[in-house]
Amino acid sequence: MGIKENVETILSELPDGIMLVAASKTRRPEEILKAVEAGIKIIGENYAQEAEEKERVIGNRVKYHFIGHLQRNKVKKIVRFIDMVETVDSLKIAEEINKRCAPLDKIMPVLVEINSGREPQKAGVLPEDAEELIKKISNLPNIKLVGLMTMGPIFGDPEDARPFFVETKKVFERIKPLVFPNIEMKYLSMGMSNSYMVAIEEGANIVRIGTKLFGPRT
Ligand SMILES: *Cc1c(COP(=O)(O)O)cnc(C)c1O
Repeated sequence: MGIKENVETILSELPDGIMLVAASKTRRPEEILKAVEAGIKIIGENYAQEAEEKERVIGNRVKYHFIGHLQRNKVKKIVRFIDMVETVDSLKIAEEINKRCAPLDKIMPVLVEINSGREPQKAGVLPEDAEELIKKISNLPNIKLVGLMTMGPIFGDPEDARPFFVETKKVFERIKPLVFPNIEMKYLSMGMSNSYMVAIEEGANIVRIGTKLFGPRT
């Protein structure tokens, strides 16, 4: 099946109210444009340089989510066109986003990334550290915290990913009623090509899908 059919199939199967982010790392702009013509509204990019190059071709007909590990020296490059940073996991990176958004008069929606699998090599804050980070982020006027994101460990069987989605949802529910400035806990970004249905069952309302839209990355 082609990209167009893949996009149409997934869009028709997603329950109402679920945002689909097309995870577009390594895909050519032509492939992404095919997906956009078939109904993709948001693309997710992992690398600052690549994101910038794609934005130059694709422009503002889509929204851009940053879904990779963001380095501090790359923030300035991307804040102009990125509509949401899903991967904030330190006060340092939040402060840099805040600083670079201020002269643009932009308030950047961000998600805090949770390292739900407690994997040392993975980005994200541990579940028990999320609240403290969010409390600090809430003081930054050019950032609006709008929810959480997690990758979780990658398994062949998506059922194995379920406990990590459950854990992230628990953090979400715990933080949601807390009253901090600049916070509105409304998005939970979890689930990829093989796990998004399980993630949605556990409360995800943003799913990030690459392979199932574009085919295997080569
Ligand atoms: C690549 C990527 C995805 C999508 O992965 P697929 O398995 O290709 O669907 C989702 N989220 C992040 C952060 C990614 O880097």
